[in-house]
Formats: sequence, C-alpha cells, structure tokens
Amino acid sequence: MTQAGRAGRDGEPSECILLYGGQDVVTNQFFIDHNQDNQEMDALTRDLVTERDRDRLRKMTFYCFTNECLRDYILRYFGEYGANYCGNCANCLSQFEEVDVTEIARALLGCVLACRQRYGTNVIIDTVHGANTAKIRQYRMDENPHYGELAKVPTYKLRQVMNYLMLQEYLAVTNDEYAVVKLTGKSKLILEEDETVTMKMAKEQEHPAKTAGEKKGKKSRGAAAFELEEEDEKLFEVLRGLRSELAKKEGVPPYIVFSDKSLVHMCVIRPVDKNEMLSVSGVGEFKYEKYGEAFLEKVIEFNKEHGKTDAPDSLGAVEFSSLDYDVVQDYEGDAEKSGESLL
Ligand SMILES: [Zn+2]
Repeated sequence: MTQAGRAGRDGEPSECILLYGGQDVVTNQFFIDHNQDNQEMDALTRDLVTERDRDRLRKMTFYCFTNECLRDYILRYFGEYGANYCGNCANCLSQFEEVDVTEIARALLGCVLACRQRYGTNVIIDTVHGANTAKIRQYRMDENPHYGELAKVPTYKLRQVMNYLMLQEYLAVTNDEYAVVKLTGKSKLILEEDETVTMKMAKEQEHPAKTAGEKKGKKSRGAAAFELEEEDEKLFEVLRGLRSELAKKEGVPPYIVFSDKSLVHMCVIRPVDKNEMLSVSGVGEFKYEKYGEAFLEKVIEFNKEHGKTDAPDSLGAVEFSSLDYDVVQDYEGDAEKSGESLL
C-alpha cells in the first residue's frame, strides 16, 4: 500500500503489483491480539486500541479484494472523503460483472465439511480442483466426495471465490499458525438452504498478445486490442521467449521481468541503445540493469536479421498512451500460475 501511494508522484504512469497472502493477515491478527506494548494502559483503553488495530487490518485486507477505485480507497483510509474516483487505477479500468458463484461456493464448503474442517485453503482448493499431488493423496483428499468436482475452474478463480466467502463470513480461518478453514454459522445457508452467492469479478478479456498471434490478419478485434505489424509480432514472440527464460531462471512470474505492455512498446520503438531502452514504458534504471541489456541485444539482433540496421524512425516519439492498448488484463495468462503463491 505504501508503494501504491508513492507510485506516480512524478506524474508518470506506474504499475504496482499487490501480493496477498492470507497467512500474513492471520499473523498480524496474532500480533494485535498478543501485543505487549500496551501493558501500562488500563483495560478499557487497551481494548479500544486493539479494536482500532483490528479494524485497520480489516480495512487493509479489504483493499486487496475491493472492486472500487483504489485511489479513493486509500484516501478514505487516511480520512480524505469526497470525489476521489481516479478513472485510472486497475479497478477503474476494469470492467466488472456480477457472477453467480453458488456452485463453486457449494463445492468449497462441501469439501470443508466432508474433510471435517481439518485443512487449510490450499488443500481445499487443490481438492476441488482435482490436483494429483503427494500431499492430496497423503491426506486422502482424493477420496473426498468433492475431489475434482471443479476441475474445469481455474485455481485463481477458486481462490477468488474462497477469499470472497471468507470476507462474507461464509467461511473462517483459525487464528493460529495452521490457518485451518472452518465453517461458520452462515455456512448452512449455502449448504442446506438455497442461498445464491454472487460476486463482482473482472470481465474476462482476450489476452491482447495471444489474440495478435492467433488471429493473424483479422482486422476487427475490438477497440481494446492493439495491433502489431506482422514483423513486430515476430519480435514480440522472441522477446516473450526471452522473458520466459529469465523468469524461469529466477523463479518469478514473467510479468515481474517485463509486462506485455513493455514488450509491445519495445517492438514499436525498437531501441538501439540504453537511452532508447529507458524510454520504453516500464523500463527504469533498475529494470534496465537487471534485464534491459539482454532485451536490447535481442532487439538489435532481430533488427540485423530483418535488415533494419538504421536508427529507428520517429516511431520512437509516439506517445505510448496514444496506442489503444489494454493493460488491465496484461498478465492474465500468468494469473493462474502466480495465483498459486498468493495464499
Ligand atoms: Zn481508481
């Protein structure tokens, strides 16, 4: 959150990645409940302080799930009320739709019930997803009646619904190091009664880069997709390959290396030296030092192979914002993989 608050102070567009771990919330809750700093306070004051800290933690947790304007959310957290809707954050730029997740909710709750509320979120999600892992077999969760019931639903989506069910108190997590998923008083509304559960989810959009590769030559792909020239597409694939390689080597999701947006921008600008590379959206000194040179080499090599040895033309001066390119769903293709480590 600190970083999201700092981002963009120079007036430039910036990207922040929020990593959420449910275990961190449990740990912080523990610290609040066992805080030894307030010993000299009287009982009432101490309770008030504890309650305030809990409330702050709740608000911070909710920031990770809210579909509202993120800028407005932060400003309200600091007591600034009013029209702070920014129209520019990931939420403002996403289109959400109300989705019926009752079936998913039933499977998750049913799974928790069937295993007698003994396991954590990952085991529950892996079970309904039908993961074939040693852990699942060891816990004999492959014998759970809900095993593999939602094999077709991607894990990141199951996790989103799971988080939502906790937020809405249909499920709870124990306040200890094991973070075991438990049913609540509200669980039976879903399990025994016909309660419908709906939640806001980001509308699924076609991956812009994938679209460009799959539907070569088709002209109308909707306003959101940015079209690369055929040769640029080839370069994009080359750069994407390099990105996967580097990401694999470092054990990070590809978008941590460079976003699709940066790669597209490199294809358009075709930087030939460090300075030009630094003009690519999302490439700063730090990223340049870490990855930039390898990408620069690839671009120069590609230019040579394709007879573009001259300095790039005025394209380099094109404002990237004027390219009608949708960045919100930028790393959708990686979401499932990175989702694994989110909780
Ligand atoms: Zn916003």
